[in-house]
Amino acid sequence: MSTLSILPYFPFNRVRIIKQSVSSDSDISQLTAIPDQRFSPKCHMCGSKAQRIHSHEKRSIRDLNIGSTRVWINCSYRKVICKPCNRIVVEDLEFFEPYIRVTRRLASFIYELCKVLTVKDVAKHFGINWKTVKTIDKYFLEQQYGETNYDGLRILAVDEIAISKGHHYMTVVLDYLSGRVVWVGKGRTKETLIDFFNGMTNEQRQAIEAIAMDMWDPYIHTVKSQVPHVKIVFDLFHVVSSFGKVIDKVRNAEFRKATKQDKDVYIGSKYILLKNKRNIRKKEHREHLKQLLSLNETINTVLILKDKLKHLWYYRSRVWAKKALAEWCLLADTLNHPYVRKFTNMLKRYSYGILNHCDYSIHTSKLEGVNNKIKVIKRKAYGFLDERYFSLKIIQAFSN
Ligand SMILES: [Zn+2]
Repeated sequence: MSTLSILPYFPFNRVRIIKQSVSSDSDISQLTAIPDQRFSPKCHMCGSKAQRIHSHEKRSIRDLNIGSTRVWINCSYRKVICKPCNRIVVEDLEFFEPYIRVTRRLASFIYELCKVLTVKDVAKHFGINWKTVKTIDKYFLEQQYGETNYDGLRILAVDEIAISKGHHYMTVVLDYLSGRVVWVGKGRTKETLIDFFNGMTNEQRQAIEAIAMDMWDPYIHTVKSQVPHVKIVFDLFHVVSSFGKVIDKVRNAEFRKATKQDKDVYIGSKYILLKNKRNIRKKEHREHLKQLLSLNETINTVLILKDKLKHLWYYRSRVWAKKALAEWCLLADTLNHPYVRKFTNMLKRYSYGILNHCDYSIHTSKLEGVNNKIKVIKRKAYGFLDERYFSLKIIQAFSN
């Protein structure tokens, strides 16, 4: 008689495997399990011994594959009356969660796979519904990342991410020093960021020193009201790119003013004007720029302003930075151009956040990397319209 047994593959405490059958093509294996009578039933919610059995039930629970064989455990279990919980509950047989129709060990394997594969791929591999896979992944994510970890935060970066076309945004808060995503919230309003601060203790708020961000009033407002001692540092990239829009408007205005003959020089110059001078490699592009600059002094000055604007972030001394900023504004004023004036006024209004860069040389470009990775997560987290799930996936990916 053979002594071979597959029972060691099923080291479950509270049940006994009493039967097994394998389909002729060995694709599917069916096991039958019953509660082990040596244990008295207990409540799956509170763990206390059940007083009375309410009913006997059965369900099929999917387990890990053995090779390419899909394993099902047809398990009998009991519903019991739990006094402490004051309700009828499923007994705890320890190898499955009552709300998920797979074994605990399969669930945790699915969770691991979801870190690297798409929900769809994992579902396909096991031949189970993708919604089940997502539910399992989300369940584990909630356990691990459901509560915001505010420990050790000193310097933060805040930015929005566009999650779909049509102005649908989420706010991401990054621990600047560790690169960990601390929090992800729906929208990009004042209230969005208030939610983030609401979870903090007073000590945790006091520990924060600086936050890098875009010149986005709702965020600024919230930081000033929630953590007024924190230094706001505006991100160089965001400011320069909004000046890029000014350059474009100036170019359009100058184009309209130009004579018919000169108009040709403006055509196709948008790209050249927005590029860093150093990065213009093609000879004909350099010639084109030269032609345009000699033709139009306003555009010439605007480009000088663009260069000088970046330099404002190079200073380590507030005195020098302040001086350079004042010089910048003076030069900008010489243009007497409405778009440029509007930008200058904004710069003056937000100058504190540029000068703060002297004390904290931080920026939000770290979040650019986050943004790229989020695109991958979006693809992986099939059904990402569940914003909570999407947020948890982001936090997991940047948990370090
Ligand atoms: Zn209970």
